[in-house]
Amino acid sequence: MKPESDTAPAFEDLRYPFQTERLNQVLWAVLIALGAAAVPLMATHNWFPSAILAATAGVVALALMALRRGRVRLASWMMLFALTVAISILVAVGKGLQDEALLALPGILIFASMFGNRRLYFGLLAYTACFLTLIGLSHFLGWRSPQQMPPRPDTFITIIVILAVIAYYVWLISCNLQEAMARLASENRLVRKSLAQIETLAHHDALTGLPNRVLARDRFEQAASHALRSGSRAAVLFLDLDNFKTVNDSLGHAAGDALLCDVAARLVGCVRANDTVSRQGGDEFLIVLGDLANAEAASAIAVKLIEQLAKPFLMGDLEVVATGSLGIAVFPDNGPDFDSLLKHADMAMYQAKESGRHTFRFFDNAMNANVTEHLHLVSAMRTALANGEFKLHYQPQFSLKDERIVGAEALLRWRHPTLGNIPPSRFIPLAERTGLIVDIGNWVLHEACRQAKAWQQAGLTDFVVAINVSPVQFRRDGIERDILHALAAADLPPQCIELELTESLLLAEATKLSELLSRLRAVGLRFSIDDFGTGYSNLGYLKRFDVESLKIDQSFVRRMTQNADDEGIVRAIVQMAHSLKLFAVAEGIEDAQALARLIEMGCDHGQGFHWSPALAPDEFLKFARARA
Ligand code: C2E
Ligand code: MG
Ligand code: MG
Repeated sequence: MKPESDTAPAFEDLRYPFQTERLNQVLWAVLIALGAAAVPLMATHNWFPSAILAATAGVVALALMALRRGRVRLASWMMLFALTVAISILVAVGKGLQDEALLALPGILIFASMFGNRRLYFGLLAYTACFLTLIGLSHFLGWRSPQQMPPRPDTFITIIVILAVIAYYVWLISCNLQEAMARLASENRLVRKSLAQIETLAHHDALTGLPNRVLARDRFEQAASHALRSGSRAAVLFLDLDNFKTVNDSLGHAAGDALLCDVAARLVGCVRANDTVSRQGGDEFLIVLGDLANAEAASAIAVKLIEQLAKPFLMGDLEVVATGSLGIAVFPDNGPDFDSLLKHADMAMYQAKESGRHTFRFFDNAMNANVTEHLHLVSAMRTALANGEFKLHYQPQFSLKDERIVGAEALLRWRHPTLGNIPPSRFIPLAERTGLIVDIGNWVLHEACRQAKAWQQAGLTDFVVAINVSPVQFRRDGIERDILHALAAADLPPQCIELELTESLLLAEATKLSELLSRLRAVGLRFSIDDFGTGYSNLGYLKRFDVESLKIDQSFVRRMTQNADDEGIVRAIVQMAHSLKLFAVAEGIEDAQALARLIEMGCDHGQGFHWSPALAPDEFLKFARARA
């Protein structure tokens, strides 16, 4: 045990911060009481007890001085010692067991319990017991006969004084106790409040206040056990916002946060009270639906969620659209527990994204197979570049006016040694997701520039090679350097290539991209917007970015002869391109009828199976020479 010292803060001092003040009050009360008890004694010429009381008062006065110097423990011990000795002497020489001074003993014990330590308290208790036994024995065994005195006024005054001091002291203690109880109660309230806050934080998302994944898991367990008991279904819906990054980047994080809160409120409004909408982090939400009659019941709610999200959100005076893609996994059909359903709902959500976003997909086992296949493809793609498995094929592009070849689009081909030809639609999204597209795209740039130079030297002049560039390449620093490097390596003038960008890129990377494009434009490069009409088709960015042409997505062009809506869209895009002084390029021209319609609309350029698919470089050269 650590030794207690007067200089170190005593344990008792820490226990009762108000101890100094209380001890001061008690010492003064004892001093006054000693004076009050001494007066009648002196008046009745009881000199010996008066002298004892005076000596005790002297020690108490010294204790007061010690207390003033901050020696709390010394002061309290001095007082206890003085009082105990004084009372013992008074009782021993006085009336023994009938002495009124005995009344002070309980007071001393109470005082010791408050200001002393355990050892002192029990020591005093033992002393008191021994002392009383000794006094009692001395009476009963007749060692001494106590003074028999009739009750006198000084006896009465002594009793009153002792009781007054004890009453005062007990009152002080009860004040302390009540104060401590009140403090304890308020601390208790604070602790309970903090516990409730901790509980909320542990189970809720700090931004939206929605349940977090931990609570969602818990709610799912309840919904699942209900489904098992009642033979119904439960579902986990994984929702990812489609263009949240755009909002965050262009309007700032505060607007992004506000949008997430609005989305959260809207989602909660779409589900029943027993269902759970939770936020997973970022722009991902998880919805747990319980008590569903069948899997289709989940699709009704999914439709509602998607429709609600599609309505614009008001951010200040701006209207923002935050569509979402949803994946659904149903319990118990698609997995036995929360984790497997979450994984499957996530896969289904990716499928929804790949099917054009702003839609939902149910999980099916083929998706699982897809994931394994994806993993194989990704690992094969890592070595494909080094093994020379990638080739570029070129699809001729024509001026529709005179059907003259004006250029070619470089299209990537991958021939895997065992899997054979793998179409770009299968491997390019994966390459983008894994970042492999950066190296692959850089190779495409170099190879296309090298080929363009070779054809130039072979006599194909007035000819532009279009190169597809992924948004992922633009998001990495270094794309500008890569482009200029590829041109320099091939010694090709920048006017001989055109870079095909996607609409999503232009929307998401606004300011930085606009400066980059201006710099590259200044060098002499051209840009076109690929697959126009399938993305956001926001006219604002067309004005902001200096592009050369719009490539109307092949899906509209291929269907335009059968579908009046598609024809209308193609016509509108051609007119819009012209009014913005841009070239209109149609891709996917498969027959003469479509070609005739496009010529009649005034479309400038085109490519498609009507003339030729993408060809290997030497075949392309033959094709081009044959048409010259
Ligand atoms: P895209 O840039 O829109 O390329 C046009 C796609 O339409 C090509 O598909 C082409 O073969 C196909 N096509 C052309 N004419 C017709 C037609 O008359 N009918 C039909 N049904 N299809 C036609 P491909 O080669 O499978 O490429 C698909 C997509 O993969 C490309 O679409 C492009 O987005 C991407 N891609 C291809 N090569 C590259 C590349 O080097 N880099 C990047 N980042 N993406 C590439
Ligand atoms: Mg293209
Ligand atoms: Mg295209």
